[in-house]
Amino acid sequence: MNKSNETTHVPVELLARYDKPGPRYTSYPTAPIWSNEVGPNDYEDALRRASVNHDAPLSVYCHIPFCKKRCYYCGCTTFIASKPAAAEPYVDLVCKEIIKTAGLLHPRKKIATLHFGGGTPTFAGTPGLGKIIDTMDEHFKFVQGCEKSIEVDPRVTTPEQLDYLASRGFNRISIGVQDLNPEVQKASGRVQTDEQVMAILNKSRELGFKGINIDLIYGLPLQTVEGFTETLKRVIDLKPDRLAVYSFAFLPDLKANQQKIKKEELPTTNEKYALFSAAIEQFTGAGYRQIGMDHFALPTDELAIAQEDGRLYRNFMGYSVQSAPDMIGLGMSSIGYVDNGFYQNHSKLNSYKEMIADDNFSVFRGMKLSDDDLMRQYVITHLMCNFRMNFSEFHNKFGIKYSDYFANEHDGLTQFVDDKFMEICDVQLTVTPLGRTFVRNIAMTYDAYLSGSEGGKKATFSRTI
Ligand code: SF4
Repeated sequence: MNKSNETTHVPVELLARYDKPGPRYTSYPTAPIWSNEVGPNDYEDALRRASVNHDAPLSVYCHIPFCKKRCYYCGCTTFIASKPAAAEPYVDLVCKEIIKTAGLLHPRKKIATLHFGGGTPTFAGTPGLGKIIDTMDEHFKFVQGCEKSIEVDPRVTTPEQLDYLASRGFNRISIGVQDLNPEVQKASGRVQTDEQVMAILNKSRELGFKGINIDLIYGLPLQTVEGFTETLKRVIDLKPDRLAVYSFAFLPDLKANQQKIKKEELPTTNEKYALFSAAIEQFTGAGYRQIGMDHFALPTDELAIAQEDGRLYRNFMGYSVQSAPDMIGLGMSSIGYVDNGFYQNHSKLNSYKEMIADDNFSVFRGMKLSDDDLMRQYVITHLMCNFRMNFSEFHNKFGIKYSDYFANEHDGLTQFVDDKFMEICDVQLTVTPLGRTFVRNIAMTYDAYLSGSEGGKKATFSRTI
């Protein structure tokens, strides 16, 4: 077990050896495998089937796809607009989607987690967010202690907006920082001051938000190990409860906004490994627990405690301690998981608008999971979230012995044991502190679709490091 005061050093040589294209496993099976033949009618049927679990809680994700200015590195689904009024028609469509969803789920009502992501969710302003929350309040029921979270941009989020969110029960917050170095910020098209970050952080603390998260990115233009280490130290001094450090994927042919980044200013692949290695070392050295390969939490944070107890979950919203069997996706590009099936809304704003305005759902792809998918999903989720997978718990859940079903996959773990990423005993598989950084590679062992032989599809993925 990784004790809070243990520093994890990840050699750059290992990062280079294991860096290959692979899924992030925010879902299994992964989105590129899903079928375009799954549509709104399938989603309606899934919601009707899910309605019979009257008391089971729900997770809800709501996507607000607007920003004032596009950051050069952005890879999100978002639109640039200058005035909050641009979001008004969109907010009305989301409310329509909520009402239609509630009708099909009736009498199931309880919401245990709600997350607003984007884009910049606060772009909709308090009237827009308020309208969405009011509609949810009217048609669903937030359970006691509901985890309500939101992503904020320190450049545009105001103290008044945070006051309002707290008054509506919001209690978790994620702050986009990326890098504190002014030169890196300029070269990345996102300039924000330390004061702006501090203002959001202090206000969130004053309002009693828990699980305060700061997002960083490595691989941005002009980042050096020395400069990034300075950012890491300053961020650690701010003592957020959680930290995430994401890899920047430079894809200028797919993302036109990234063409503003000067290629010659980007760190080399080896420098990128060194940046990531520095982040792991600094965060674990400062007492943060590594929660996933690129997420960290203070030992006192509920995510770290849940991981210790083996009850951490992961979905498109990130890591969570609340288990809800079904997740409702609202807004364009959002993904839901209902009755063991994935359903994704259109990523094109016009397609989303037309279908919702027509009193339809805008699902354009999805997948109903087979028993094989569910067993692989279970193993991958437990390895990714809790860094262990208990054989008898697997048996209790599926009535099948892990060693019988996954004999071939199990043999493929030898390389990870040899590199000290994993330990295997009669009771469970355990990912070591060193192996946490390579957990995507370990999870790939259980992915039936990677060869392209299952389901007839072969996907393209970003690199694992
Ligand atoms: S704030 Fe986030 S979503 Fe908006 S442009 Fe920047 S990176 Fe993209």
